[in-house]
Amino acid sequence: MSKRIFLSPPWMGGRERALVEEAFASNYIAPCGPMVDRFEREFAAAAGIPNACALSSCTAALDLLFHELGVEHGDTVFCSDLTFVASVAPAVHRGAVPVFIDCDEATWTMDPRLLEEALGDVARTGRLPKAVVAVDLYGQCCDYGRIEALCAAHGVPLIVDAAEALGAVYGAGQRVRHAGDAGWAGVYSFNGNKIITTSGGGMLASRDAGVVERARMRSQQAREAQVWYEHRALGYNYRMSNVVAAIGVGQLEMLDTIVAKKRQIFEWYREELAGVAGLGFMPEAGYGRCTRWLTVVTLEDGGQRSEAGVPSETVERVRLALEAANIEARPVWKPMHLQPVFGAARVYGGAVSGQLFAGGLCVPSGTGLARQDVSYVCDRIRGVLAGR
Ligand SMILES: *Cc1c(COP(=O)(O)O)cnc(C)c1O
Repeated sequence: MSKRIFLSPPWMGGRERALVEEAFASNYIAPCGPMVDRFEREFAAAAGIPNACALSSCTAALDLLFHELGVEHGDTVFCSDLTFVASVAPAVHRGAVPVFIDCDEATWTMDPRLLEEALGDVARTGRLPKAVVAVDLYGQCCDYGRIEALCAAHGVPLIVDAAEALGAVYGAGQRVRHAGDAGWAGVYSFNGNKIITTSGGGMLASRDAGVVERARMRSQQAREAQVWYEHRALGYNYRMSNVVAAIGVGQLEMLDTIVAKKRQIFEWYREELAGVAGLGFMPEAGYGRCTRWLTVVTLEDGGQRSEAGVPSETVERVRLALEAANIEARPVWKPMHLQPVFGAARVYGGAVSGQLFAGGLCVPSGTGLARQDVSYVCDRIRGVLAGR
């Protein structure tokens, strides 16, 4: 059997190993040090946001933001419905009640019309959410302009979960903005399958220097600037390690190359699968440029109604046929409102994300893929859909 084709494996294309050796040579094998400072500086420049704090994960970044906002029992937090659970789990751990907002089928990101409706409903009762978490899905920015304006009109802090979207842009020309540069703060992930990886890690960035400074302090057990261990408040152990940051510095140097390659892979799929009946692709929003972190296809279900809460029979058939050829593919994120853990949660809309989950499949999108790998995957997909 041929080598396994993974969904989105790490791709170390640059100077990562040399930089890790540099970290070793300096003996900063610690959760602080020159590589962490450098990664933060270079990340801030790449993301176009002046302040950034490197952390052990994106989940940690979100937790620090919910701490900063004082999210506590009985609060509500609005969150994109179509996302990975980490977007909202740290708030729920603090006792918040999540309210989910469905996506717009033209962008697969939070539908501003539904957000407007949801904010309007709670504004009448005076119980506004502590935050809105809007997710940049599969490398595509949500509609920053409209979502930001709605949050600002109600005075609700906007957190952009750009875990999947580093390298994406919103707007064009003079007014271009990088992923995560909207609202109050942006968070990013460097987990193993994200667009750049440090094995595990995250970043918190904000135009508000105070937010980032306090997060940095809390990520190191809230230690005061004293020679002895002095604490006026309690913090966490969330800081990124200096060794891990060295990988990040090397990966960041390759970001433009990686984004270009991801978009190339998407184009290869589009060419290979053009004209296949019942097969479509995640749309690219007109307001920006998607990284195509993952290429996502949609498969029509031949008229059969799929059961709620599981992928369609067609998606499973294609996925299993790929698996049999040692190719990894995965269903689209299962929407939060369909997750048993959030059984009773309120959702605005829900039909769009439900349909995308039922009919969507993420296909191999690793930066190292060659054209013939994509052809090989597409042969299998065409084969199954043709009933062979
Ligand atoms: C991966 C991901 C996260 C979590 O990132 P970690 O670094 O693994 O904590 C959060 N939100 C979204 C949308 C993600 O895809």
